[in-house]
Amino acid sequence: MAADEHELLAADRAHVWHPYASATAPLPVLPVVSASGVRIRLADGRELIDGMASWWSAIHGYQHPVLDAAVTDQLGSMAHVMFGGLTHTPAVRLAERLLSITPEPLKRVFFTDSGSVAVEVALKMAVQYWSSRGEPARTRMLTVRGGYHGDTLGAMSVCDPQTGMHRLFPGLPQQLFAERPACRFGEALEARHTADLERLLTEHSHEIAAVILEPVVQGAGGMYFYAPPYLARVRELCDEHGLLLIADEIATGFGRTGSLFGCDQAGVTPDIMCVGKAMTGGYVSMGATLCTEDVAATISDGPAGVFMHGPTFMGNPLAAAVSLASVDLLLAGPWQAEVERVERLLRAGLEPARGLPGVTDVRVLGAIGVIELDHPVDLGAITALLVDRGVWLRPFGRLVYTMPPYITIDDDLDRLTAAMVGAVVTVGTL
Ligand SMILES: *Cc1c(COP(=O)(O)O)cnc(C)c1O
Repeated sequence: MAADEHELLAADRAHVWHPYASATAPLPVLPVVSASGVRIRLADGRELIDGMASWWSAIHGYQHPVLDAAVTDQLGSMAHVMFGGLTHTPAVRLAERLLSITPEPLKRVFFTDSGSVAVEVALKMAVQYWSSRGEPARTRMLTVRGGYHGDTLGAMSVCDPQTGMHRLFPGLPQQLFAERPACRFGEALEARHTADLERLLTEHSHEIAAVILEPVVQGAGGMYFYAPPYLARVRELCDEHGLLLIADEIATGFGRTGSLFGCDQAGVTPDIMCVGKAMTGGYVSMGATLCTEDVAATISDGPAGVFMHGPTFMGNPLAAAVSLASVDLLLAGPWQAEVERVERLLRAGLEPARGLPGVTDVRVLGAIGVIELDHPVDLGAITALLVDRGVWLRPFGRLVYTMPPYITIDDDLDRLTAAMVGAVVTVGTL
């Protein structure tokens, strides 16, 4: 290892805290010097095929000329100005674009600085909506087990209580959890699948503000795919009980599941929708919370007269400009065919894992491929095996999974899936 690389890693180990990591006994991290296309280049010269799209976000790959140009052009006029009392073209055009590709009743866009904050904003909108309507007792959220909605306190409170380690945070708001949707993607919805949710809705109707869900794919909570009719049924139930529906599309948005948004698969319009991750093409952090005119007007015409939120970097022009470029790049290309191609190759490549010792399930939907094991993976060991095979993945729990950039060519997808299957075979024989 070169001296400067050694020094960098020592400083990292001494001073930097990584995601979901120990500060005192961290697993090794790999120094990256650059990334382009679907290749991540390490300091020692090795190149890895990226199977993670940097946590669902880099859908067009790294250093895309169109996205690079959007950032550089925007830098020519301004990197940032505050959004209180000021506005600018990138934010306005991005808001218009988001509304043009999401269900028609969504009419307002509130920009945030990350996905978690988009969820916080959605939860706050729901609570302020009901207090504006003179029903301040409606503050609780109803959700399903197995969800993931971010790491800030409000967002955490609606994450799965087990995988979200709620026991470590005793002060979290106490939300309501129905069973994880039992009808898998492709299965028919039966009345029993929503019985638990309906029971909670009936018992707690007077105190619930909203139902929050990830449409069709539960991501970081377990990479689980459920039947779209479940989502449609939740919409019906929200209507029957007069409740708001919040769709967290932060992972599923912008084509990942094969439709532009997860809600599209169920023909459902939420009252509030959160987006993030792939919106900026993975360039910088930005999220957005979209809502209907009813939600926006009820809050604005209520006693407070305003919505009580406003991040410092709200509507950041660099982030908005690259988001607009990323969304337009997606829409201008054959994204649906590309995601279908990725789906086909993931399916073919991962199928051989079915039936291997220790493998309990193999599933693919859109550009998401999952091998589920019967035991938690040893993250350090499996990462090393995968890196040896030239791919970058970040397994968690019992899952070895990929959600590659849509531009990944067939050969690279084959190498990715072969590495996944190979690593699972090796782990099974350790
Ligand atoms: C990643 C994610 C979030 C949180 O977004 P951050 O940008 O990491 O704060 C929220 N909801 C879902 C569904 C996500 O996948």
